[in-house]
Amino acid sequence: MEEKFRIESRLAQIGSMEDPATGAVNAPIYHSTAYRHPRLRQSTGFDYIRTKNPTRSVLERSAAELEGADAAFACSSGMAALQTIFALFSQGDHLIVSLDLYGGTYRMLERIMKRFGVAASYVDTNNPDELEAARRENTKAVFIETPTNPLMMITDIEAVCTWAKQHGLLTIVDNTLMTPFFQRPIELGADIVTHSATKYLGGHNDVLAGLILTKGQALSEEMAVLHNSIGAVLSPADSYQLMRGMKTLALRMERHEFNSLAIARFLQSHEAIAEVFHPGLPEHPGHEIQKRQASGNTGIFSFKVKDARYVEPVLRHIRLIAFAESLGGVESLMTYPAVQTHADIPAEIRDAVGVDDRLLRFSVGIEHIDDLIADLSRALDAARAEVEAQAPTL
Ligand SMILES: *Cc1c(COP(=O)(O)O)cnc(C)c1O
Repeated sequence: MEEKFRIESRLAQIGSMEDPATGAVNAPIYHSTAYRHPRLRQSTGFDYIRTKNPTRSVLERSAAELEGADAAFACSSGMAALQTIFALFSQGDHLIVSLDLYGGTYRMLERIMKRFGVAASYVDTNNPDELEAARRENTKAVFIETPTNPLMMITDIEAVCTWAKQHGLLTIVDNTLMTPFFQRPIELGADIVTHSATKYLGGHNDVLAGLILTKGQALSEEMAVLHNSIGAVLSPADSYQLMRGMKTLALRMERHEFNSLAIARFLQSHEAIAEVFHPGLPEHPGHEIQKRQASGNTGIFSFKVKDARYVEPVLRHIRLIAFAESLGGVESLMTYPAVQTHADIPAEIRDAVGVDDRLLRFSVGIEHIDDLIADLSRALDAARAEVEAQAPTL
């Protein structure tokens, strides 16, 4: 699109205007793996599906444009995107990584990248002293998640990028939780952005996908080589499915934000709750940075119940809210990070950051707020009654 429309308009129109021959308002799905060459040394721009596919190209162009990136690469999952990014590094390299990290990323760094001689140090990336203390001669990049999941710790993206540039390090941001609708790290100085598009971008818990966005020509060219060489690329049908979801991203994110804030406030004043971690609340330590660098809040947050014994009955009594892993879809899902998403992170590290046995993570969907609060309220009351019946308070 030539004209610079607002993000809501650009999202709604993804894939439209891509097929002048028919005027279709959705990008066609090209399943073809091979493409005829008009003659020797001529190409339509498409040769073989792994390198480039017309449907995937529409998605990649739209994604790059939304994040202010120079190039985008659609991958078969968020982890495939991360593996492709980590292939930038070589034996002997070192990375500085957010402490409260997505479990799968931690597992890839510790179980796979470590064997290839790429080391990682985990720090609070919002603390300049910790960043500086972790920096080594062989450090190549800083990898951040903000907010982190599940503890919703906020990192000042611009501050990290400035520091990283001074030391010749790349800054990589996992922007899964925020999406380009609320936060665009490349505009704040990041070199690489990655997404598990399985979450908010897809938005309906029905497509597995990942994205890589790059800034700068050399980095974009290098990433194109890695993307094609590793081959963990997104299929045409899934590229279509992802664009289908992205068209409603703006509406969904607005509702996710509204619902999650309302529930966070409800829980703050609930007797069974010890603590609520939501960067949209003024009490949250990262609230001011979040307001400065993002235009809104994601739909996921976490909270601690006062007694670990509440957890099992709460998960048994919720009905509208599903007890399930994953996040970012229209359906509300609740998980227990200590035994599910973060089980691969050693207990000492989990306890040090606060992912303990009282912490629940809530990916708030787009259902009616009154129904969500009623469901949660009923489950909390039932859990408390059960625990009290087991061990009456003296
Ligand atoms: C889910 C997730 C990933 C991994 O993505 P998949 O699509 O499940 O492979 C990476 N980072 C974050 C923050 C995630 O939530």
